Amino acid sequence: MTRHADVVVVGGGVIGVSIAFHLAARGVRDVLVLERRVLASGGTGRSVGIVRQLYPTPETTAMVVRSLAVFRDFPARVGGDAGYVACGCLIGVGGAMRGALDRAVARQRALGVRAEVLAPAEAARIEPRIAPAGLGAVLWEPDSGYGDPTGVTLGYAGAARRLGVRIEQDVEVTEIRRGGDRVVGVTTGAGARIDTPIVVNATGLWSPALARLADVALPIVVGRHPVFVVERDAGFGPPHVVYLDLAGGAYVRPETGDLTLTGSLTDDETRHPMDPEALGGDVSLDEAGEVLERTGRAVPRLREARYRGGWSGAFDITPDWMPILDETPVRGFWVAAGMSGHGFKLSPAVGETMAALITGATPPVEPAPFRHDRFRGASRATTFVAS
Ligand SMILES: Cc1cc2nc3c(=O)[nH]c(=O)nc-3n(C[C@H](O)[C@H](O)[C@H](O)COP(=O)(O)OP(=O)(O)OC[C@H]3O[C@@H](n4cnc5c(N)ncnc54)[C@H](O)[C@@H]3O)c2cc1C
Repeated sequence: MTRHADVVVVGGGVIGVSIAFHLAARGVRDVLVLERRVLASGGTGRSVGIVRQLYPTPETTAMVVRSLAVFRDFPARVGGDAGYVACGCLIGVGGAMRGALDRAVARQRALGVRAEVLAPAEAARIEPRIAPAGLGAVLWEPDSGYGDPTGVTLGYAGAARRLGVRIEQDVEVTEIRRGGDRVVGVTTGAGARIDTPIVVNATGLWSPALARLADVALPIVVGRHPVFVVERDAGFGPPHVVYLDLAGGAYVRPETGDLTLTGSLTDDETRHPMDPEALGGDVSLDEAGEVLERTGRAVPRLREARYRGGWSGAFDITPDWMPILDETPVRGFWVAAGMSGHGFKLSPAVGETMAALITGATPPVEPAPFRHDRFRGASRATTFVAS
């Protein structure tokens, strides 16, 4: 039997359900989300969930500001629990990045972000346990922090369902059917055919593979980003803030149970391509040792912490480390992928933007920087690394 949907969103991660919710909120009636496993079982469920507001472009800064406003008021604006903890975020940079940091902060402030540039020694006032050596300046964002990517996904899914969106799990899209240069439907692994004029590729790490089903090539590399868990010793004191040491190449974010999540901030994920099916796999002690060495330089007190394990994560990375939010040359086949390690903190604004673009409304941010065709002849843009 052939079914019909006005829009099929493929992928039940935080991006897919945010798009589905925002489409329904705009009055699109018959939205169907297809997820091959369970909601948040992809990159979303492996995410560290850091929300910081330092971004290199006005559009991405505006997106994170809009998104943070949603996380902070999630029960009222969406429903459910975003698990948002506004512990504050410090971002340490080397001397060479000071100019770029000052420009970014001016942009942030113009959009209402509370942010302050501190001399490295001054950062001790906020968090005495970070090491100032090697830093040229430290940015303090008191309203930043971290959230729960699975909680946000379930919140959006619940809100979408209340607006009539159908969400089907354990359903894999195995074929995207075209009629000439238009999409006309999808076929699932069980052989079900769903006719639809609009398919949204929100499959994250699997987005290049899904796009190939429609003969569309996405300039996205899936790069490995392992996460490590350490347990702070009893003498550590209260939980630390989120700290991104861009100069030293490590980040830390507190977790419950005296745990800290840590990983690399060296922007080298594209040099470590990973099969998305390896998501969640084990990490080696060697790679843990290398990252924990940098973590210990950033926050020397964490050298006393006990190593508890880790997991293999991965980012879907575009050449400029910014998402693709656009219709492809196949009419009706849209892409919201290439989140490049930013997908959690941008997810509310990505959903809003995609829903506006698909319905022909004016998006909340200028969409040109996220076009699918922007890489033709383009060079790599300035980035503040992911997380
Ligand atoms: C280790 C790690 C740390 C991160 N840290 C941060 C951070 O600190 N801050 C931040 O903002 N972001 C962070 N990110 C990035 C962010 O979490 C991701 O960008 C975001 O969660 C991706 O969401 P998504 O919905 O695009 O993809 P996913 O969550 O991967 O969802 C895609 C879904 O599509 C499904 N799917 C795939 N193929 C098919 C198919 N053919 N048919 C049906 N379904 C299919 C998959 O099963 C999956 O559930 C991190 C990511 C990782 C992995």
